[in-house]
Amino acid sequence: MKYEVVMGLEVHVELSTNSKLFCSCSAKYGADANENVCPACAGMPGMPAVTNKKAVELGIAAALVTNSQITRTMTFDKKNYFYPDLPTGYQITQFYAPICRNGFVEIETSEGKKKITLKQIHIEEDAGKLVHDTRTGTTLVDFNRTSVPLVEIVSNPDFRTGEEVIAYLEKLRLLLSFAGVSDCKMQEGSMRCDVNISVREAGSEKLGVRTEIKNMNSLKAIAAAIEYESARHIEVLETGEGQLVQETRRWDEAKGETFSMREKENATDYRYFPNPELVPVFISDGWINEVRNSLPESSDEKFARMTGVLNLSEYDSKIISGSKNLADIFDETSKYFGKPKEIVNWIIVELISAAKGDNKGLDDIKIDCAKFAKIMEMVDGGTINRNVGKKLLVSVLEDGVDPEAYVKENNLGMVSDTGVIEEAIKTVISENAKSVAEYKNGNQKVVGFFVGNIMRKLGGKADPAIVNKLLMKYLNEL
Ligand SMILES: [Zn+2]
Repeated sequence: MKYEVVMGLEVHVELSTNSKLFCSCSAKYGADANENVCPACAGMPGMPAVTNKKAVELGIAAALVTNSQITRTMTFDKKNYFYPDLPTGYQITQFYAPICRNGFVEIETSEGKKKITLKQIHIEEDAGKLVHDTRTGTTLVDFNRTSVPLVEIVSNPDFRTGEEVIAYLEKLRLLLSFAGVSDCKMQEGSMRCDVNISVREAGSEKLGVRTEIKNMNSLKAIAAAIEYESARHIEVLETGEGQLVQETRRWDEAKGETFSMREKENATDYRYFPNPELVPVFISDGWINEVRNSLPESSDEKFARMTGVLNLSEYDSKIISGSKNLADIFDETSKYFGKPKEIVNWIIVELISAAKGDNKGLDDIKIDCAKFAKIMEMVDGGTINRNVGKKLLVSVLEDGVDPEAYVKENNLGMVSDTGVIEEAIKTVISENAKSVAEYKNGNQKVVGFFVGNIMRKLGGKADPAIVNKLLMKYLNEL
């Protein structure tokens, strides 16, 4: 342990508002290029800016879930720089009076619990997006994202390992997504992370030269970039070859290395000054309490309710309360079907795997919960067997079919008629004399083979409990 890695994080999280921060353009992701632009967010001179109240409320919510001290009179400032995706030539952000300061987030790693302290959280507007067309050698600009509201969460340099960084990002994702602050989808860019990293000799108080790795958008990339960059620092310190400079670097996913992007700017380079066009926002006790009282159940509270009141296993509860989307599906389905243990089973075993085939993340799974509940109800009540239920789930996911009508139309109701099942058993036994002999010689494995064949004969619709019971009776009587 000769060296110590010291890291601080700047995490940008897009706020879940309908409109942009200072105009009424839609803030939704996925529109056609330049569909959501007006003179105000395109930076036309003389356009008035009006602060989005919802964005401030989500900022207050972010402050509350990170145990931060809320600034009572917050203001906006201009951060000046030139870049083609920034039509005004400045970004509206908070420099002098950010929405909150001095919060903390508790994380859990293999070393135990640790408090990560936060310097501040500020609200700011996003920039647009440049699209480089390598085919024609041109660059196009899309202003849809321009002025979409963000919070930037700035931590103190409290991180020592990549594991702590990942645990913190996971925790932030849970805190903010359950509070409705953001959907925190890294793959869509609604959660992005910059890591400030330096390396010093263990025991030293003085920080080493700091580099910043910018704009990584997956946990895997972040972990790999931290490992690469800290090894690079240590090598320069050990060998004395090469030089560390304060700079901004990017992560090259394909090569698995960081590369220099530009020398790091200092705050003075941006000539911050108060934005005279926006009035200060006063945040009263009453407003804070209103936001606090409207906060939905947190991930931790959900976990406690699932393991406590609902008596579900810790393992299952962890999965469901680890995704805002799954937790919403669980709650919504519970309104229609009263067996939580069954719902959790169906979500974890069937729904996730059915949707994963579609290459979807847990947060992208969408299901009509009333129909989902109907499937469980039909399986539970013996109208269809579980296998048919699984196939039905796929049809609901893919084509949105109505479960009851679909079962009727396709004649998928469960076969429980013992006469019909016995017929099928007799046929399969008479067709497979060799396997019968194997069974007589003590090979239990052929039972599965028989069950499979009988189920196939009955179109997969038979009651598996009756099939098993009758089959064993026949086999043992032979
Ligand atoms: Zn606009």
